[in-house]
Amino acid sequence: MAEKVIIIGSGPAGWTAAIYTARASLEPLLFEGAITPENQAAGTLPSGQLALTTEVENFPGFPSGNLESYLDDAIDATQRQMMAPHLKEGVSGPELIELMRQQAKNFGTRVITDDIVDVDFTSHPFKLIASDGSTHEALAVIVATGARANYLGLPSEAKFKNRGVSACAVCDGALPRFRNKPLAVVGGGDSAVEEADYLSKFASTVYMIHRRDELRASKIMAQRAIDNPKIEILWNTTLAEVLGNDADGVTGVRLASTVGQPDVEKDVTGVFLAIGHTPNTAFLDGKLEMTDKKYLRWTTPGRTLTSVEGVFAAGDVADDTYRQAVTAAASGCMAALDAERWLAAKGL
Ligand code: NAP
Repeated sequence: MAEKVIIIGSGPAGWTAAIYTARASLEPLLFEGAITPENQAAGTLPSGQLALTTEVENFPGFPSGNLESYLDDAIDATQRQMMAPHLKEGVSGPELIELMRQQAKNFGTRVITDDIVDVDFTSHPFKLIASDGSTHEALAVIVATGARANYLGLPSEAKFKNRGVSACAVCDGALPRFRNKPLAVVGGGDSAVEEADYLSKFASTVYMIHRRDELRASKIMAQRAIDNPKIEILWNTTLAEVLGNDADGVTGVRLASTVGQPDVEKDVTGVFLAIGHTPNTAFLDGKLEMTDKKYLRWTTPGRTLTSVEGVFAAGDVADDTYRQAVTAAASGCMAALDAERWLAAKGL
């Protein structure tokens, strides 16, 4: 028998859609992705990008720092005594996503640790094929597969992947090879600053390699990089080649100038890419309408509807603009409500 709702993806959008559809008695089945070396290399393991970040300072309800003193300030003592016990600190990305997962499971969400690798949306119920070959039928589908980190595509970058080249400082930054050594971060957005700032806790120096003379990062984040004495921003610079050898992995970088200066080399033991993301939509090619950057297209403004009636999209997979945990969670909620109303309207 067909499932009422299948959710594909296990970031904030997927788990929020699960919480809402479960509470609406739609008994959601959620595919959280497979734990494979390929997914590890591509950055598409279950729990998505939030599991690859450190402190989450901007998710409403989870102020960073000591929650106890924040609550003391925010709520008067008598009122506080009547409230439930609470966490003592702010929250990390991995903690937040685990809390969401648990919350979804508490309401009865069933979770399968596998990838959906193909879909048939041409007939109803829809068919979804998992990587183990099993076929699952659904009356409604919510796609929340998110996006993954980009690489530059240099042969030398590929050669030293996992031997000094990474797109996730939080996953790899604490490794011994990076401790008290100079490191490089490529990019000028919020991710690059976040990675550089995090790495500066371990590294002797962090070079931020940015192709322009101005950071893309938000003002507060940009200032954090500029104020950090361990971060040196190399303006108007691109990564031309990762240098290294078989025995040591990465030993340096060759940098090219975007303003006509000669190449320079820097000794580093690690290179961290932070140059944006690609949506995880390859398995939906030709099945749903996409933008030119391969993000799923929301076909009705302010709604999570896709080009196939009964299939909804939530989170970064359809959002090239905001890409925040909170906006992903919000659109997960919207997709759940859209799915619930669509099923009700169809009498399904
Ligand atoms: P992003 O904002 O798109 O920035 C990508 C950076 O990489 C840009 O500086 C870009 O340079 C550079 N870049 C892209 N392709 C390149 C190439 N081929 N060669 C050299 N440089 C290249 O991506 P992001 O930093 O991952 O951030 C994505 C979203 O997540 C943003 O909305 C951001 O605000 C959000 N975010 C927020 C936080 C936080 O609030 N704590 C943390 C991380 C991310 P140009 O500037 O020249 O284009």
